[in-house]
Amino acid sequence: MNKITNHMPTAELQALDAAHHMHPFTANADLAKRGARIITQADGVTLTDSEGEKILDAMAGLWCVNIGYGRDELADAAARQMKELPYYNTFFMSSHVPAIALADKLADLAPGDLNHVFFASGGSEANDTNIRLVRRYWDLMGKPGKKTIISRKNAYHGTSMGAASLGGMQGMHAQGGMPIPDIVHIGQPYWYLEGGDMSPEDFGLMRAHELEAKIDELGEDRVAAFIAEPIQGAGGVIIPPDSYWPEISRICAERDILLIADEVITGFGRTGEWFGTEYYGLAPDIMTIAKGLSSGYAPIGGSMVSDKVAAVIGRDEFTHGYTYSGHPVAAAVALENLRLLEEEKIVETVRNDTGPYLADKWHQLADHPFVGETTIVGMMASLALTADKSVRKPFKSDAGTVGFMTRERCFGNNLIMRHVADRMIIAPPLVMTRADIDTLFERAVMSLDQAFEDVKEAGLLETAD
Ligand SMILES: *Cc1c(COP(=O)(O)O)cnc(C)c1O
Repeated sequence: MNKITNHMPTAELQALDAAHHMHPFTANADLAKRGARIITQADGVTLTDSEGEKILDAMAGLWCVNIGYGRDELADAAARQMKELPYYNTFFMSSHVPAIALADKLADLAPGDLNHVFFASGGSEANDTNIRLVRRYWDLMGKPGKKTIISRKNAYHGTSMGAASLGGMQGMHAQGGMPIPDIVHIGQPYWYLEGGDMSPEDFGLMRAHELEAKIDELGEDRVAAFIAEPIQGAGGVIIPPDSYWPEISRICAERDILLIADEVITGFGRTGEWFGTEYYGLAPDIMTIAKGLSSGYAPIGGSMVSDKVAAVIGRDEFTHGYTYSGHPVAAAVALENLRLLEEEKIVETVRNDTGPYLADKWHQLADHPFVGETTIVGMMASLALTADKSVRKPFKSDAGTVGFMTRERCFGNNLIMRHVADRMIIAPPLVMTRADIDTLFERAVMSLDQAFEDVKEAGLLETAD
């Protein structure tokens, strides 16, 4: 692959970026001092930056480039669609072929009777749609008191006012009037740091029972829905104990509330199944999709809706929609992405071959003195950094200090691995080969070794009391 040389020097790009570009989840003043890393090109699982460095992207961008970078088929689908019909809306009793074809394909792929889709441009918008959908559903059912949505602490559902309120991230809620009314949060099934002396199974049950207790506390006649990611992504790739989802399913089935599965990360093969819902055998009423839907090549998301809910919503005008709901170019790209995922049996390969291979390597990292646990499903994995393997306790330093130091070592070794507090996480492109996984593993070990020394030297290898 050619190194791109026809751009301005990195320092100039960084200066312009700092002068005019406000970055998400970033202290722009800090970034201005340091300068952004500028990515110029990508192919397969490898990014190229403006200095010509080749970087292994073990995060698939932001959990989205499931098909890998550089697929001409998707670029061609976009170009074809732009020439044929670059835009038309789906309001006012209009439709177009890409939205029709994608909705049909999604109804086919989605589990159970999730046969309807309301399109959005991403996951946040789709979750805002979901808030309105579930409240509208209960209004039409003659139960307007059922408004409250139960979510979980440390959940991530996006960043708009509605989606961030559904989310359980304290740092986000602290910045401006969130959560909005009638959204409440229960505990997360995060055994490693919150399970205390309980077994994972008992702890999973206990956290599931918090849902039942919260419904009882509020009154079933006030609860509209429960929303959760099958596996928490941005919260740190937190894989719940096996006891958790069956118990949540039982509670949802017994109570007259809707279940929303936020599959923005777990959808489209990430778990080795098409949807996390299938991995756990769930029967949601609504499923949020985005990210892997188009492998990030175009912004598109949506809400998959069950026959039952769609029939009720369809009785009357639903006063909701986005200019870009079902955008033809994004829909055409998503459709092509799904075709390739299917034809090339990428999900099956994750389930039967590369997923197990990655799991084997990942669990080998558990032997490292700096690693307290390793967890993985399909191609989403995390590990807990620790100062002392014999206890499941956080570091004494502020959460994220050690994780950040480790991430810096990864970046230095041309490996993109993220940290959430002091957990390291990966969610690579699903097309990652065994050879790519070997490279990932080598760089991860090297980075952990170096970070372990850094942390020791900084006097931070200490467990909280
Ligand atoms: C990324 C994400 C979202 C938000 O999607 P955007 O496209 O960034 O709005 C919602 N839910 C989950 C689980 C996500 O990971």
